Amino acid sequence: MADSKLYEILGVSRTASDSEIKRNYHKLAKEYHPDKNPAAGDRFKEISYAYEILSDPKKRQTYDKYGLKGLQEGGQGGCPPDDLFGKFFDIFGMGGGRPRGRARGEDTIHRLDVSLEDLYLGKTTKLQLSKNVICSHCNGVGGKLGAVVPCRDCQGRGIKITYQRFGPNMTRQLQSQCMTCQGLGETISEKDKCTKCKGKKVVNETKILEVHVEKGMAEFQRIYFRGEGDQLPNTEPGDVIIVLDVKEHEVFQRSPNDDLLIKKEITLTEALCGFQFVLKHLDGRDLLIKHGPGEIIRPGDLKGVRGEGMPHYKNPFEKGNLYVKFDIKFPDNNFATEEQMLQIQSILPPRPDFVMPTGEDVEEVNLMDYVPNERSSRGRQEVYAGDEDEHMHEGPGVECAHQ
Ligand SMILES: [Zn+2]
Ligand SMILES: [Zn+2]
Repeated sequence: MADSKLYEILGVSRTASDSEIKRNYHKLAKEYHPDKNPAAGDRFKEISYAYEILSDPKKRQTYDKYGLKGLQEGGQGGCPPDDLFGKFFDIFGMGGGRPRGRARGEDTIHRLDVSLEDLYLGKTTKLQLSKNVICSHCNGVGGKLGAVVPCRDCQGRGIKITYQRFGPNMTRQLQSQCMTCQGLGETISEKDKCTKCKGKKVVNETKILEVHVEKGMAEFQRIYFRGEGDQLPNTEPGDVIIVLDVKEHEVFQRSPNDDLLIKKEITLTEALCGFQFVLKHLDGRDLLIKHGPGEIIRPGDLKGVRGEGMPHYKNPFEKGNLYVKFDIKFPDNNFATEEQMLQIQSILPPRPDFVMPTGEDVEEVNLMDYVPNERSSRGRQEVYAGDEDEHMHEGPGVECAHQ
């Protein structure tokens, strides 16, 4: 299915290069940054999200193939359907979304480092964060009743508008925060300020949040604490959002469908004659993996153990599979005597038939090791040098291929 919403958000085509995506992202992010453009908060989030996906080759591939839904199901999208995903549908006229009430504060986003073990076993962790809460002494008024008056410098709007001329007949309107009231739109005379919050209406408090990392959660998955963001008078507090950052694991790699993958090197002897090895799983169990003789393991072979992958999120008793990708370590040169070589030959399948060609055009040559770039790199350097030459004496008829 051809879903190109994320491309549309960044204003690029589906075939856009990484640098093109990056360039447009920077341009748009600048334009819609909440500092500059407070009303465009949602737009900014969409832009960030689109970039998060399209700048990651793996996620971009998933998205190209399966669309937004694919990212969700694969656990790569990082946002539960009721939030950003829901908002996407909103923009494209598919309903849903939060009802508009009083102003809503900013969400606070924290990253939480977790290991693959944490996601396998689940984990509860305490997170200490500081946040603003309404001052209990003045109930968020900031001072004595009647002491709070609209700012005279900005007529209570909190912002100042100035006009700047640029070019002939053009002016630009600039909006900036009122310095007198710090954008609050009101002032309190020093003597009437609340003694606890010094007129700020809020005080800083330390809060401990208990974060439940559930089995099978995904990288970049968000855990929401509704309304736990900074408090402000007459504002619905935003959420605290914990984003899971998964540390790379030394042994296991996780795929979007909860399979686990390990790489295993075995010797040629093991590949031909069978092997066993112990794998320490993410929960500490020792898995004894056995493979008898008879079925040969070839370089790059992928073998699996059913149900030993990651637990599925919200359904942790079901698990993905564990896959082992094999690499074969061949013996060192001259590992056997000539006599032993003959023994090996006698066991292995015979060589293919060989007929020696006759005539004068037969030439016997030796094999050498591959030498990378011996010719090609020197060749390329010459091309570059030539290119630069051209730039230096640019004359008629010489076209410069500037990108
Ligand atoms: Zn107070
Ligand atoms: Zn003001």
